[in-house]
Amino acid sequence: MDISIVVPLYNERDNLAPLHEELARVMDALGRSYEMLFVDDGSTDGSAEVLRAIKASDPKVRVIRLARNSGQTAALQCGFSNTTGDVVIAIDADGENDPADIPRLLACMGEGYDIASGWRTERWKGAALTRRIPSIAANWLISRITGVRLHDYGCTLKAYRGDLARQLRLYGEMHRFVPALAAEQGARVTEVEVNFRPRLSG
Ligand code: UDP
Ligand code: MG
Repeated sequence: MDISIVVPLYNERDNLAPLHEELARVMDALGRSYEMLFVDDGSTDGSAEVLRAIKASDPKVRVIRLARNSGQTAALQCGFSNTTGDVVIAIDADGENDPADIPRLLACMGEGYDIASGWRTERWKGAALTRRIPSIAANWLISRITGVRLHDYGCTLKAYRGDLARQLRLYGEMHRFVPALAAEQGARVTEVEVNFRPRLSG
């Protein structure tokens, strides 16, 4: 398997079919082998039924369902440890990340980076101050404490070298610290500007 895409989701019923379609279009155009691994983090809104239909229509889709809601980090961890791809890509299920950015992340991996991390340059579009201020503070703090300078620690859309992703043991809210943790151990990390689209439903 060349590429595993991991999609953590919690109550994203109406976002799943459009995302699957966009992902399939982008990935099919690459001509590389891939799988999509949807991790249903205990959804209660009918996401499971939607995923069943998507899986029935596309053999590249795998679904893992967690028995109860465990949070995005736990869903990512579950997804990562069940991948087989040389490269693992994580993407949000709500449409905020754009699958069209995946080829550029993969290009960085081809240049030898261990992590290519999305940087949402337009992420403040329409965001309330109550979201902006904590995010700016968190970015500043993480950057100062870890010494790994990224513009955007909170972007799920990232490409990881597969064995690196499978070695991670994430808990709590740790997914934001992966680039910093990995860089500590010598991983080469780069940032790629990506599109940001506010979620349309859910
Ligand atoms: N998510 C999850 N479990 C949760 C909460 C969120 O798997 O308990 C998923 C969610 O469906 C989405 C991603 O994690 O695909 C990011 O969540 P959200 O959009 O709520 O976070 P934000 O974009 O505000 O950081
Ligand atoms: Mg979101």
